[in-house]
Amino acid sequence: MKMSTIVHDKIHNVIIIGSGPAGYTAAIYLARANLRPLLLEGDGSDGTYPGGLLTTTNIVENFPGFPNSIDGFKLTTNFKKQCENFGTITKSEHALNVTKLDNIFKIQTKNNTYFTKTIIIATGSTPNKLYIENFDRLLNHGISMCAICDGGLDCFLDKPLAVIGGGDSACEEALLLSRTASHVYIIFRKNKMRASKIMIDRVTINEKITLIPNHEIETINGLDVLESIDLKDYTNNKMNLKIKGLFIAIGHTPNSQFISDLVEVDDYGYIITDKSMSTNINGIWAVGDVQDSKYKQAITAAGSGCIAALELERYLSKIE
Ligand code: NDP
Repeated sequence: MKMSTIVHDKIHNVIIIGSGPAGYTAAIYLARANLRPLLLEGDGSDGTYPGGLLTTTNIVENFPGFPNSIDGFKLTTNFKKQCENFGTITKSEHALNVTKLDNIFKIQTKNNTYFTKTIIIATGSTPNKLYIENFDRLLNHGISMCAICDGGLDCFLDKPLAVIGGGDSACEEALLLSRTASHVYIIFRKNKMRASKIMIDRVTINEKITLIPNHEIETINGLDVLESIDLKDYTNNKMNLKIKGLFIAIGHTPNSQFISDLVEVDDYGYIITDKSMSTNINGIWAVGDVQDSKYKQAITAAGSGCIAALELERYLSKIE
């Protein structure tokens, strides 16, 4: 068994835990300020995405500077290159826990222990699952958490598919799938989708997409692969939908568990910050989706990373 080792006998100025637009932006600012940030971008072992959820988005149309849109993976790769060009060290490691010592912090990863004066948490959020019988068994056998990753698989081409969820993600996934599926159903539990108007307009006019409001999934059927789902509405009317693929787009859970006994979180697990992105612990900031339950945009995440980096720079110059 590999022993845990202390790889840095030095104390870092700052360690950024997590990546994505928020973490990389903070790293760009801190590297340009000559603070030599270390960024632990995660190793994907816990179902999270190194580089952030943006890596799973194919078309980003609302990040300023790209008039003809940009691929999410490409945008993230550019963020990473940019922060490395200025001197950020990035490592594919996943923080397991954080301890506050006297005036520094200890971060434990699977194989290493790091010490740092300050921390920026940018661990984002993870897509939610459905807690229905057969879900786990048929996950990756007809059920997918990511249309971008799986939508092009042979088993889904020219087949009827469904997306569950009423937000922008559900619309985006349905639009993507509609290019290759025979038909796509969007199932949502309210009368109206909560997605933005432009996305609702796009799915509504798409002839290959049918909206099914006021319904939830009651059962998921299939032995080795997904065969159908049973839906019910609030008057208990039921219908069976024969589909070959079910794509889940029902929101996210913030990845704050590893630090929630140190910093304050709300009832949903979002880290509570003030306007400067500072947590209740001096020397720890939180940025992006792990603290933002409302906006959750790449551009707002990047902005929060910038704010935290500027505040952190001032904090370090005061304590040194
Ligand atoms: P949202 O939180 O906006 O939407 C989640 C949806 O899932 C809601 O319709 C919710 O229903 C539904 N839901 C939650 N739990 C269940 C359940 N157990 N069973 C059935 N349905 C459920 O998440 P999104 O991921 O869609 O979006 C997150 C953020 O990212 C938003 O701010 C969005 O604007 C942004 N985004 C923007 C995009 C773009 O601009 N291109 C693309 C993707 C995301 P209910 O409404 O009933 O609560």
